[in-house]
Amino acid sequence: MVAKLLFSLALCALAHAQTVGVRLAGGVTRRVPMDEYIGWVLSGEAGGMKAPQALQAMAVVARTYARANLGRHRAQGFDFCETTHCQDARAGAIPARIRAAVEATEGIILWDRGRPAKVFYTGHCGGRSAGAGEIWPGAARTYLPSREDPYCLQSSPGRWNTLIPWADLAALLTLPTLEHLEIARLTASGRVAELRSNAGPISAERLHLLAGRALGWNRLRSRFYEIVETPQGPRFEGRGTGHGVGFCQIGAEQRALAGHTWQQIVQAYLPGLRAGVAAKDIPWRVVQSERLELWITGAPADEDLPRLADTALAEAEKRTTLRAGKRPQLRAYPEVSSFRDATGEPGTIAAITRGRIVHLQPAARLRANGTLHSTLLHEMIHVLIALNTAVPVPIWFDEGLAGYLAGGTTHSNERARVAAMVRKQGLPAVLNLLKTGVR
Ligand SMILES: [Zn+2]
Ligand SMILES: [Zn+2]
Repeated sequence: MVAKLLFSLALCALAHAQTVGVRLAGGVTRRVPMDEYIGWVLSGEAGGMKAPQALQAMAVVARTYARANLGRHRAQGFDFCETTHCQDARAGAIPARIRAAVEATEGIILWDRGRPAKVFYTGHCGGRSAGAGEIWPGAARTYLPSREDPYCLQSSPGRWNTLIPWADLAALLTLPTLEHLEIARLTASGRVAELRSNAGPISAERLHLLAGRALGWNRLRSRFYEIVETPQGPRFEGRGTGHGVGFCQIGAEQRALAGHTWQQIVQAYLPGLRAGVAAKDIPWRVVQSERLELWITGAPADEDLPRLADTALAEAEKRTTLRAGKRPQLRAYPEVSSFRDATGEPGTIAAITRGRIVHLQPAARLRANGTLHSTLLHEMIHVLIALNTAVPVPIWFDEGLAGYLAGGTTHSNERARVAAMVRKQGLPAVLNLLKTGVR
């Protein structure tokens, strides 16, 4: 069983990063690196946030949400839709301040005992967040409590009101008539749980969803409201926007302006979660080889990694005629689980290179499989490509070029495509595309 799994290890995933399939308007699915998608999400969901620490907190929360919900649309052939069903994602150019926040927190998510946490965020919690269990039975978590939030109120009281005519409301709820509506029951944080009407009880969540879909989400903005009956219809006088659970965006912005770090902001709204790239801290030991920086944990199989990595880098430089101007970094994970946690990649790939950092499965595993040397060579070529790329190149070109230059027995469409280019134009011309871009 284990041997079989080892043999099915692919040489490398598509070179850049964990990619996700995002279904855009018009039904096109685009595959992009996770952090490109997180940039789109912040463009869609956090357009009003400006303070760097608030945006960094938001990036961590959005990335955690994405990791916990990865593949929710798998049956339809993609990971995320671009609507608020998943997260509102605005595909396209990412503003510099958002890109900086995503990069500053690269790969970091929030962990709940070894798993990506099931976090939520809301526009403005109205001064008191809702416990998750109040809004969605079964969703209660210790890190999603109801808490006072003086910070969002500093920015604005978040008050809103909207009048929905009796006839419209009756149509919405598919009731013959409606002439009386009042609050029957509140949740622990003061949100409306249930309404009472002349036509019987009405669930506040049902009303909220029906009104949002039919009238738009900017009318009944939250479930935090009072009702004033008028002859025209009930006027909802409310505060806050969104479900009120978890991370409060307006509050986060105020906390950042007050000097809080992103870690403090996250802890204030999502208490008790651990932020990190991996579920638990890895006892890294950093050693320098002749050419590389290695992060190892002292496993016996790591012992000659420095030498093997230097050899692989020298061989990669020879094959590519490219030089490593910066020291590549090699992280050799102690277990498959820590590799998976830290990279977000499945345990079935041997390694993943992001920029000049190579993330490697446990060396013992690759050695047993006979692929340690070929994996190191392949990944060092990716590092050289990354360090010598002047304009972004497509993922297929990066992967195909590494596959072509590393040789070996693994064939792919990308490799065949680059091999055909080399036959036609020669290797120097193909390598020069790293400077000019691939059209
Ligand atoms: Zn969706
Ligand atoms: Zn708040």
